[in-house]
Amino acid sequence: MDRRTFVLALAAAPFCAHAQPKRTMKDIDALQKSWKTFLPAGASVPSPAEPLKLSKDEWKKRLPGESYKVLREEGTERAGTSPLNDEKRAGIYACAGCGLPVFTSEMKYESGTGWPSFFTTIPGVFDMKKDFYLIYPRSEYHCKRCGGHHGHVFDDGPPPTNQRWCNNGVALKFIPKDGSKA
Ligand SMILES: [Zn+2]
Repeated sequence: MDRRTFVLALAAAPFCAHAQPKRTMKDIDALQKSWKTFLPAGASVPSPAEPLKLSKDEWKKRLPGESYKVLREEGTERAGTSPLNDEKRAGIYACAGCGLPVFTSEMKYESGTGWPSFFTTIPGVFDMKKDFYLIYPRSEYHCKRCGGHHGHVFDDGPPPTNQRWCNNGVALKFIPKDGSKA
């Protein structure tokens, strides 16, 4: 780091600290427990305990091409292409395959990667791919209800979880809390 970069870094530091609120594990626990408060009034959503199993043809009919490729064939969308990167409203991110709520807007953060990123999840909604011995640094996760591939989790997220759930935008469907159009 040269002198100029160092001075710039110092100048930027207070702003960055402000942009990322400091959370404790207790806050994360509260965020996970209160996820239903992010649903629009009267919304009914499925639970991980009601599995959705469809044939390949049925999935093809149900999902747009790009979502099918990611969810059912473990593809990855091009970075920076998802409109959900800029989604800032309060609400729920649900699986685009089966509607299972997987994240809330409060769990989202700007990772700078070009994919919607989250530092934790709604509890019990993902299965990790079994053939990894270690969960980190890179582990693939799937929707517990429909088995759809969503993304990978890394250990370079913000504290206190240090998790970065790097999710394909096309695997998600945003449900705004105020009931407006997604
Ligand atoms: Zn699903």
